[in-house]
Amino acid sequence: MTRVMNFSAGPAALPLQALERARDELLDFDGSGMSVMEQSHRGKAYEAVHNEAKALLAELTGLSSDYEILFLQGGASMQFAQLPMNMLNAGQSADYVVNGVWGEKAIGEAKVVASMYGAKTRVAGTTAEGEGKAVTYRRVPLEGELSLDEAAAYVHVTSNETIHGVQFAVAPDAPFPSFGGAPLVCDMSSDFLWRKVDLSGFAFVYAGAQKNIGPSGLCVCIARKDFIAKGRKDIPKIFRYDVAAENNSLFNTPPTFSIYLMRNVLLWAKEQGGLDTLEKSNRAKANTLYGVIDELASFYSCPVDRASRSVMNVVFRMPTEALEDAFVAEAKKAGMSGLKGHRSVGGIRVSTYNAVSLASVETLAGFMREFAKRRA
Ligand code: PMP
Repeated sequence: MTRVMNFSAGPAALPLQALERARDELLDFDGSGMSVMEQSHRGKAYEAVHNEAKALLAELTGLSSDYEILFLQGGASMQFAQLPMNMLNAGQSADYVVNGVWGEKAIGEAKVVASMYGAKTRVAGTTAEGEGKAVTYRRVPLEGELSLDEAAAYVHVTSNETIHGVQFAVAPDAPFPSFGGAPLVCDMSSDFLWRKVDLSGFAFVYAGAQKNIGPSGLCVCIARKDFIAKGRKDIPKIFRYDVAAENNSLFNTPPTFSIYLMRNVLLWAKEQGGLDTLEKSNRAKANTLYGVIDELASFYSCPVDRASRSVMNVVFRMPTEALEDAFVAEAKKAGMSGLKGHRSVGGIRVSTYNAVSLASVETLAGFMREFAKRRA
């Protein structure tokens, strides 16, 4: 069996160890004579996995008991709607900081909910450049560019814009910026657990699992208890954060296999040495790629401002689209997949999530040098 070097943006590479464990336990989980997928979600065997996954998340992130961890479904996109459904009330307004397509989508869904509720959404800052289909994002906003409403129901930000490769707080030791006094909500889908972030500054964090932590469909939420306690009670129970919290995310049948696989990934993360070790590896991978781009600047160009260059999704262009197509095709032949940029922006995107090894990135960097030499 040959495993490819997978640089996909999500679903993305998972640690081999986590997959091998799932393979080994697939038919007989923990001596039960059935797979984890076939167990009752209320049985002891599954419950132990569920609670271990929560405990590992709390341990890796250093989470305080002020927070509840929720396992929800519908991916991160569900949260674009579920958040305002829970946390917006008539007459209130929610702020959105937009630094990419995912931020645009988040406010788009919130607007729909707000109009049903007699509430409002506001763009508190955007770094969109250009018009219509040519809109692009090259950086995160500076503090002075934001007009924050201190009375907002919440302020929503996207910590890493997966498509444009634009990330907040990438400098070593940079704290996550503050966004005024309203409760801070963050879509961390594509950079959750890339390093240790002080989560005590956030009211609510959500992350679709399919980048750094597991299979798609599952969404991990970190909810400050006093924030979600104030959520609306006049919506169906299945959407209520407080109901999910009271039921340990077992209000209905959760995606048990996805949570199990995430547990395996979190165990792997812990065995690597936790988030400080993963941060070192992630920085080394990003530095390697940006190093080649900067060294061969007449051939490769990164459209993102240096201070906002994502550590998770490295995007770059070449002189022509034909060269980019050839790059993707030749890399594929050499065992490297998932390099094509998002269909809306083109170019090349290298996603270097936690499970992508430095060795794979070094192989890619070598290929980039060799390709430029041959085709420049
Ligand atoms: N937010 C961000 C930052 C993302 O990268 C993505 C997926 N690429 C989403 C939200 C949507 O996630 P899902 O497909 O799980 O709904």
